[in-house]
Amino acid sequence: MYWEKNVETIKRAKLEDLQLGRLKETIGRTKKSYYYGKVFKEKKLGISSLRKLKDIQKFPFTNKDDLREHWPYGFIAVPKEELVRMHSSSGTTGRATVVFHTINDIAVWSNLLARCMYMAGMRKSDVFQNMMTYGLFTGGLGFHYGAEKIGALIIPAGAGNSKRQIQLMRDFETTVVHVIPSYALHLSTVFEELKLDPRKDTKVKIAFLGAEPHTEKMRKKIEEIYGYKAFNSYGLSEMNGPGVAFECPEQNGMHIWEDSFLVEIIDPKTLQPVPDGEEGELVMTTLQREGMPLLRYRTKDLTRIIPEPCSCGRTHRRIERIKGRTDDMLILKGVNIYPMQIEKKLMEISGVGTNFLIVLDREGFNDLMTVKVEMDKKYFSGEMKQMETLRKKIVEELKSEILITPKIDLVEPDSIPKGEGKAVRVIDNRKD
Ligand code: ADP
Ligand code: ZN
Repeated sequence: MYWEKNVETIKRAKLEDLQLGRLKETIGRTKKSYYYGKVFKEKKLGISSLRKLKDIQKFPFTNKDDLREHWPYGFIAVPKEELVRMHSSSGTTGRATVVFHTINDIAVWSNLLARCMYMAGMRKSDVFQNMMTYGLFTGGLGFHYGAEKIGALIIPAGAGNSKRQIQLMRDFETTVVHVIPSYALHLSTVFEELKLDPRKDTKVKIAFLGAEPHTEKMRKKIEEIYGYKAFNSYGLSEMNGPGVAFECPEQNGMHIWEDSFLVEIIDPKTLQPVPDGEEGELVMTTLQREGMPLLRYRTKDLTRIIPEPCSCGRTHRRIERIKGRTDDMLILKGVNIYPMQIEKKLMEISGVGTNFLIVLDREGFNDLMTVKVEMDKKYFSGEMKQMETLRKKIVEELKSEILITPKIDLVEPDSIPKGEGKAVRVIDNRKD
């Protein structure tokens, strides 16, 4: 059984004791890596710098660039022969980074994922179709090992090949899927093409949506189309991958497994911690990792701690749905805009289909934003008047959210190229 009651409902004071113990062990381990060994020496840091949890603030942050600069082995903290697995990030914001695991690390990670899936309702009797890329990307093997711990029957479908996904789902009566949200929407258009209704023609009752930011509206839309419950799954390769934070049946924020990760939320400008409840950048320290422990890793993901206790009884704090990455932010005519703001509005408008793309151009000194918006198949009749009404509505709604007036190009359903990985939301043609 993967409801680890005594860990998941542990009292705060006891959890903090556990964290402090594990943090000390982690500092002891990190010291052995080339990178932290050097940094600790320079800054005269060590286990003795740590009396209480807050002392973590004496230690420096770790950035994605630090990992890139110490490629490939600069962060490993055990002899190389102890490593059994390498994974990598997707490279969404530049060169991918790599992470290494010992056999224990894989066991801990699998256990965290088993907890997540169990929490959302998956059981041994389920048929689990993992529609994420297997290989270096963490979403494939990560979930696979977790599902195996629960004992479910796994269909390691991997990503893409939509028609085969649907056939597998139907032939083997899949009950749980793991899917990238933008791909779930794309897949729904393939169901339509095949004249199938996912609500009636499949048995899926639970979906894990992860790997990319998505709005509550997008989740609702996916739940509506498929008739299943969709749970938000957050993670990043630097903190193993999926299994960092996950929604419970309340579907209101994601419990972050604090026995394995020490959480801070900081103001990305001042780098100072913000109080619980306030939005900022999520920073995490691994508490159990052996192969490649990381201290105060800056995720660049924006969220906040939900301070209220959760009615499910778990005491690990929740983080709110990720609003976006600090480096996703677009600055247009001096206004800061996140692609998620656009998604949120678009998903509310009936007539809008399953995909969109923001294109930025510069004409002279003027920045221009065009949003290509796919129309809903049911709505797409080609009738000019109806299209003009929809276009105007989208302009108005977006203007109210982002305060500038974008140009809207309505395009045919399923016409914006969609790969099998994370959605590309922005193309920036502006020159610096
Ligand atoms: P990369 O950083 O290159 O995309 P990863 O594959 O490790 O590599 O992806 C981790 C990132 O994906 C996170 O830092 C976050 O920005 C995003 N992400 C993952 N899951 C979610 C989620 N449920 N909601 C929002 N963003 C997510
Ligand atoms: Zn809960």
